[in-house]
Amino acid sequence: MDIYDKAILLAALDSEYCQLSHGPFDTRENHKAVDFLVCPLGYREGEGVEVQVRELTIPICSDCADGLHDEEWTLLYCLNCLASQWILRPISRLRYRHNLIWLGSCPHCAETFGGISFNEPASLHSTCH
Ligand SMILES: [Zn+2]
Ligand SMILES: [Zn+2]
Repeated sequence: MDIYDKAILLAALDSEYCQLSHGPFDTRENHKAVDFLVCPLGYREGEGVEVQVRELTIPICSDCADGLHDEEWTLLYCLNCLASQWILRPISRLRYRHNLIWLGSCPHCAETFGGISFNEPASLHSTCH
């Protein structure tokens, strides 16, 4: 994403709301977007280098932006159905070490586990299409 794309996206955020989950008792309209997450969704080979072909941009609010920098929280985001869930690490049964984990699928949209990828493009080959 170049600087112009980014500027256009940021300008468009004025009318966007956070796309992440705030739990069942909160509404999206309470959370105006102030920033966005970017997930590189696919790569193709070209001239011996990998060229990024598509990016998923997800508007997020300031609360969620803070959460992504907070060591206590991990965000799970499903690339298949776009569901999201925050995990509070101290009370989780699993040990999460990343702030953001992209899921290939989740219990909302698939019976079988579609794999996970962390926020590192090299590992997104198999799970992002
Ligand atoms: Zn939010
Ligand atoms: Zn899902």
